[in-house]
Amino acid sequence: MRALITGGCGFIGSYLAEALLARGDTVTIVDDLSTGRFENIAHLVGLPGLEYAIETITNEAVMDRLASQCDIIYHLAAAVGVELVVRDPVHVLETNVQGAEVIFRVGARYRKKVVPASTSEVYGKGTRVPFSENDDRTLGPTTRSRWSYACSKALDEFMALAYYRQKSLPVVITRFFNTVGPRQSGRYGMVIPRFVRQALADEPITIYGDGKQSRCFAYVGDVVRAVVALADSPSAVGQVYNIGSTEEVTIEQLARRVITLSGSKSKLTFIPYDQAYEEGFEDMLRRVPDISKVRAAIGWEPVVDLDGILTRVIASMRA
Ligand code: UDP
Repeated sequence: MRALITGGCGFIGSYLAEALLARGDTVTIVDDLSTGRFENIAHLVGLPGLEYAIETITNEAVMDRLASQCDIIYHLAAAVGVELVVRDPVHVLETNVQGAEVIFRVGARYRKKVVPASTSEVYGKGTRVPFSENDDRTLGPTTRSRWSYACSKALDEFMALAYYRQKSLPVVITRFFNTVGPRQSGRYGMVIPRFVRQALADEPITIYGDGKQSRCFAYVGDVVRAVVALADSPSAVGQVYNIGSTEEVTIEQLARRVITLSGSKSKLTFIPYDQAYEEGFEDMLRRVPDISKVRAAIGWEPVVDLDGILTRVIASMRA
């Protein structure tokens, strides 16, 4: 297969590129390096199957040519990270909405399967445990920038399904829950790289809110394995799949585990959401995926547990 990966220099995209190259696919990466980093793929550069273009996905002439030359488009380019979303909502909306418009248009022009990466943010502040693919979404007001991200990614999903139903474009929507591992940057707010960096420097661990909010963290290698298997599966076309871990941990417990596993002398510090993000910031208390659909489709289970993930992230940051 000839795969086109948008956002291939990003954290998840770079692992996807690695996995596809390892099985013999050719891979073309397109990334504007706005949040992605070239170092993420530096170890792949020079491999026979890899090409890359440093370009924005909103450049339709370039995307048209790249789409015409591939068999499948993994669309991972997006503005991500709650902190970035709050800081630069214009960039988020332009990238996530206009970018996706271009991808689906060129995908449809050449009838190439499109596998867009979506996010558990689309569930918003819904309180169901666990979240199933067809659950209602509950979003806060437009005056809170955080919700612009959820809205933009939900629009991507609507676009994907509209192209599938109306233009017979094959699409498979992958909805990622918190995905983590070595190479993830803490610059845009992600909690694990931030906590590990703080722990290794014996600095205070910054817990936002009261630390009782929980998340389920999945290892990026497990997530990528699900994406590739779903992309390969004809029966997944036109479907939405949650992909994530079901091992739930509160953010305070997470901080304590990072301290223990890294042997850090860090103390915990609690920072109100208003100070961490924006005035009136709304977080979700729990976010657990129902993964029965992806399990039934491809027999997928996450393999690396939270301790395994933290051990890898700590080792990689130390190195
Ligand atoms: N968080 C935190 N300290 C940090 C960064 C994040 O306590 O330095 C919290 C954040 O408020 C959220 C959770 O950790 O409740 C996960 O944050 P992340 O941005 O990694 O992912 P999210 O689930 O918000 O998309």
